[in-house]
Amino acid sequence: MAEYEAVIGLETHIQLNTTTKIFCGCKADSWGDPPNTNICPVCSGLPGVLPVMNRAVVEKAVLLAKAMNSEIQTDSYFDRKNYFYPDLPKGYQITQNDQPIALGGYMELPLKDGSVRRVGITKLHMEEDAGKTKHEYGRRLVDFNRCGVPLVEMVTGPDLRSADEVADYLVRLRQLLRWLNISEADMEKGHLRADGNVSIRLKGETILNEKTEIKNVNSIESLRAAVEQEIARQIREVEAGNTIKAWTLDWDEDTQTLSKMRSKETMADYRYFKEPDLLVVHLDEEWKAEILADYPELPLARRERFIAEYELPEYDADILTSERSLSDYFETANKAYGGDPKRLSNWLMNDVMRLLNDQGIEAKELRITPDYLAEIIKLVDVNTVNTSTGKSLLEKVQESGKSPAEIVEAEGLAQVSDTDAIKEIAEKIVADNPDNVEKYRGGKDSLIGWFVGQVMRESRGKADPNAAREVLKELLER
Ligand SMILES: [Zn+2]
Repeated sequence: MAEYEAVIGLETHIQLNTTTKIFCGCKADSWGDPPNTNICPVCSGLPGVLPVMNRAVVEKAVLLAKAMNSEIQTDSYFDRKNYFYPDLPKGYQITQNDQPIALGGYMELPLKDGSVRRVGITKLHMEEDAGKTKHEYGRRLVDFNRCGVPLVEMVTGPDLRSADEVADYLVRLRQLLRWLNISEADMEKGHLRADGNVSIRLKGETILNEKTEIKNVNSIESLRAAVEQEIARQIREVEAGNTIKAWTLDWDEDTQTLSKMRSKETMADYRYFKEPDLLVVHLDEEWKAEILADYPELPLARRERFIAEYELPEYDADILTSERSLSDYFETANKAYGGDPKRLSNWLMNDVMRLLNDQGIEAKELRITPDYLAEIIKLVDVNTVNTSTGKSLLEKVQESGKSPAEIVEAEGLAQVSDTDAIKEIAEKIVADNPDNVEKYRGGKDSLIGWFVGQVMRESRGKADPNAAREVLKELLER
């Protein structure tokens, strides 16, 4: 059988996390709100109203364009895209057609084999979302809450080669969107939507064949499954001597299958023309500089720096840069700690991240500040508390918000390294357990662990286990 390769491009819609909608003062995010509660004459398309551009939309679009290495345009324009649908009360969508906010660009995608795929970006444009229709009780209902919600549409080149690459691209994009605080990027809530354009060709060919478009997928995993199915279907069709037609395919989440929705519309159907009610979006140097003033180091660059600067393994660097507040947390704690960064990374990845997962929060919401974490590790390093007390301190600080030192003091958690105190306890244990003493002396060395455990229990976890072991050995072997 011939060898095929897939050629995939993505059309992504990103819902910006602005407070208000793109052309009016209504609340932008209506997730969980009752239908038609965040609407006004502007976004519900009543006659005689005028849209007013929300500056925050331009600012977030510029941040995204910069992250995508796109050419940000000084002047961009809005257009009317005319079509008739019940969820579009104006009868047209305000979008950017031929003069969008940014052109070109790329995103670098690290692949599993260690190489980097450069995924081209054709253009980025700003637009308003449409509403939503649904069938209920045998009637067609319409919700305008989403009308006028700000979106950036971003189209990639046909540069992805497998369903896995599609999923990886979306994971990276989602990370970037959250990192830059542009979008919540939650696919399940429609904050990030992705339609896939899929075609196949014989490996080594450079032509682009007819493609199909996959729509209505609401998670990264589902898009991976949908693309995989579509590649397999196209190969079957071509092998059977059939040609691929430019269909639009609808993903059904319940059955996890694709079905034909319609044959594709052509561009001319929309009768675009310039939006007469909006001015040009003019991005002068001053405004652009203001927007980019706090432009942060991006996740991949920070990952490289963590490996080089702190000598962290790639695995650690990957996890610590998965989310911006976590990587900021690491750096602040590292400064406060001043010890081995890998030791700090272990505490953070094992114990602190377990807390984050259990409580479903992000690093920036922790009551254990980076300074407190550094303080706890230092208390363990100098033997003021033992490791298990140190770990329980994490939870106590998180619960109470008090400083580790304060808790150690108030609860008397400081480790007992004083040999006399430990000896007193150890002598009692030895005296009370003649049977085990005899077994130990008869050669059952492993019992030392049991004796240390008894001392730890008797001291309510405060004894220094190493000191206890030494004292016990001395008593048992005399
Ligand atoms: Zn409104």
